[in-house]
Amino acid sequence: MKSSLSFRLSILLVIYTGAILVIASIAIINATHYHFQLYGNEMAESHHTAKLLNSHLEQAIIQSIGLTIGGAFIITLILSIYIARRISSPLISMRNLTLVMARGKRDVRLPLKGAPKDELDELAASINHLAEQLEQQEQLRIAMTENIAHELRTPLTTLNSYLASIQDGVWEPTPERIQSSREEIFRLTQLVQELEELQMFNSSEFSLSRKKVPVQRSIEQVMDLMRPSFKQHEIQLSLGHLPDATILADESRLVQIWTNILSNALKFTPKGGIVRLDGKIMADSILITITDSGIGIPPKDLTHIFERFYRVEKSRNRKMGGGGLGLAITKTLVGRHAGQVWAESKEGEGTQIYVELPLAQSKIKNSLDNIG
Ligand code: ADP
Repeated sequence: MKSSLSFRLSILLVIYTGAILVIASIAIINATHYHFQLYGNEMAESHHTAKLLNSHLEQAIIQSIGLTIGGAFIITLILSIYIARRISSPLISMRNLTLVMARGKRDVRLPLKGAPKDELDELAASINHLAEQLEQQEQLRIAMTENIAHELRTPLTTLNSYLASIQDGVWEPTPERIQSSREEIFRLTQLVQELEELQMFNSSEFSLSRKKVPVQRSIEQVMDLMRPSFKQHEIQLSLGHLPDATILADESRLVQIWTNILSNALKFTPKGGIVRLDGKIMADSILITITDSGIGIPPKDLTHIFERFYRVEKSRNRKMGGGGLGLAITKTLVGRHAGQVWAESKEGEGTQIYVELPLAQSKIKNSLDNIG
C-alpha cells in the first residue's frame, strides 16, 4: 500500500515519543518500586527514616533518568539507521545517478522494486523516466545527424562532380546540366527548410495561431492550388462527401498538412490513378481520409513512414524529391492540433491517410490551449 513519506515520518515520530514515554514510565515504576522495597527493609534498622527515604528517592530519580536516557539512545540509534537506509541512502543513490547522467552516460537506471511506495520511490521512477527520455533524445540526435549527413552527401557529391567536370573542360555547361545542378540545389534548400520547420514545430516556444476554420474551405483551397499538378500527371483529384465542420486551427498549418499528404499521393500514384478526399463527423472530431490508387506501402514500412527521414525505397524516392520529412512534419502539426494521423495501405493497390481533428465545439478543444 502506498503511504506518503510525511505520513510515515509522523507515525515514526509518534512511535518514537511513545516508546520514550513507555521507557521513562517503566524506569520510574521499577526504580521507585525497587528503592521503596530497599527502604522498607532498611527502615527497621535505621533511626533516620526521613534521610533514608530522601536518599532512596534521589537514587530512584537518578536511576530512572539514567535508564530513560539509555533507552532513548538505543531507540534513536535504531531510528537513525532506519531513516538513513530508507531516506538518505536512496537520495544519495539519486544524486550519484544524476551526476553520472550529467557526465553524458544515459543508460543508467535506479533499481525499483514494484509499484512506488512513497514520494522517494516516485522520485526515483521520475528520474528513471527522465533518463529514458534523455537516452531516446540522444539516440534521435545521433540518428538525425547521421541522416542529415547522408542526405547532404549525395547532392553535394553530385554538384561537386558536375562543377569539377566543367572546370576540367570535360563537360560543356549546357542548359540541361545547369538545370540538373539547380535541381540538386533545390533539394538541398528544401531539406534545410523542412528541417527548420520540424525543429520549430517541435520546440516548446512554437505556438499555433488558432481560429475557427471551416475544414471544407481549407481542403478546397489546397485542392484548387494542386489541381494543375494533378492534371499534368493525368491523375484524377476528386472530393467526396465533406460535412460542414469547423475546427480550431492554425489555417496556414492546416493547409500544410493537406499539402504534404496530397503531394505524397501525387508522387506515389501513377498516371491514370485517382486521389480522393472524404470526411466524416465522429463523436467529437472530424475524420478526413485521403485515398490514392498509387503504389502502396509494404506492411513492414507502414508503421515507420511518420518517422523522420524514413522513406520506402530510398534511392527512388530521392529522385522524386522527397527528403522523408513531410509526414514527420504532418504528424507533428496534427499532434499540435490535438489530432491523430495514421495510414493504411495495400501494396500495388493504394494508400489511405487518415487525419482526425477535434471539432471546434468539442470538449477536447479546451486542452488545445495546453498543446499549441
Ligand atoms: P517524402 O518527402 O520522401 O515523401 P514523407 O515523410 O512524406 O517523405 O513520406 C515518407 C515515405 O512514405 C515516402 O518516402 C514514401 O516512401 C512513403 N509514402 C508516403 N505517402 C505515400 C503514399 N501515398 N503512397 C506510397 N508511399 C507513400
